[in-house]
Amino acid sequence: MIIVFKKDAAKADIDHVQNRLEQFGFKTSMSETNGRAILGAIGDERILREKPLFAMPGVEKVVPISKPYKLVSSDFKKTETVIDIKGVKIGGGNVVVMAGPCSVENRDMLMYLAERTSKAGARILRGGAFKPRTSPYAFQGLGEEGLKYLREAADAHNMLVITELMDPRDMDLICKYTDIIQIGARNMQNFRLLKDLGTVRKPVMLKRGLAATMKELLMAAEYVAAGGNDDIILCERGIRTFETETRNTLDLSAIPVLKSMSHLPVVADPSHGTGRRDCILPMSQAAVAAGADGLIVEVHQCPEEALSDGDQSILPDDFDVLMKRLNIIAETIGRKLTTA
Ligand code: PEP
Ligand code: MN
Repeated sequence: MIIVFKKDAAKADIDHVQNRLEQFGFKTSMSETNGRAILGAIGDERILREKPLFAMPGVEKVVPISKPYKLVSSDFKKTETVIDIKGVKIGGGNVVVMAGPCSVENRDMLMYLAERTSKAGARILRGGAFKPRTSPYAFQGLGEEGLKYLREAADAHNMLVITELMDPRDMDLICKYTDIIQIGARNMQNFRLLKDLGTVRKPVMLKRGLAATMKELLMAAEYVAAGGNDDIILCERGIRTFETETRNTLDLSAIPVLKSMSHLPVVADPSHGTGRRDCILPMSQAAVAAGADGLIVEVHQCPEEALSDGDQSILPDDFDVLMKRLNIIAETIGRKLTTA
């Protein structure tokens, strides 16, 4: 349920309503839209049937929400969420690109890729130090050594770091080095992990599960928000369909649909979304044209030698072309590619 307060509502009246709801066992969360206080209350709405909330001073409207996701829904917050990380804004008309290798393989490759991708305008360096591999015999990532290289390379080129957290036991370690915590498709419904993410003060990028509906993605985000962390980015990374020409089917329609269901920023991952190098440029263009707030793209200086996902990694020269195209597309639809 959402309680919208009058524009001139007194703080004491707002606090009173919040306290009453908490007494009834509701979990509450305050936000503000157009100068009005908005209180989200999560709990059993049947309890409130007999309670005259509307009659309480300062209250303008009481809106029941029947959707299972509440805090992340566009009903709860009418304005788009903008996440500001050290001055890089994600959401709200900006288009931000995250780029780098699938896995951190060694220091030199990362220093080189950070230099090339930042020069082209990427503001966030990606790279996995803990890798969720289908085979237990495949390269599993460098662990903390990889995190150190990520931080060093990003700092050297004024970039932010995004890297994947797979296990709640690695939370403190990952938080020490990263600016954004990536939750991979295979962990989208790891509820223990999602609960823990609610308690950290770092933005989280949640990747859509291989077979997850948009509603399930939003429910996963709701776990994080309900735990107290509102800085969530949604990522469409392709879903499993009957098609075998592509690794996954990048669901472009999820971009506008998620943006209408939720106030959270939505980015697209054409690399995992298609699994094919020749699809990265066209699908990146399409995702930005469809309204994505950003992209996450795998780039490697020698894809044929990559320890993971070489088939879908583009070369730094291709990335230069991609960024130039995105700049044109963003401008055409009245948005801005953040490159510095
Ligand atoms: C990745 O970004 O390298 C990755 C493993 O992604 P996903 O979880 O979407 O498969
Ligand atoms: Mn990958």
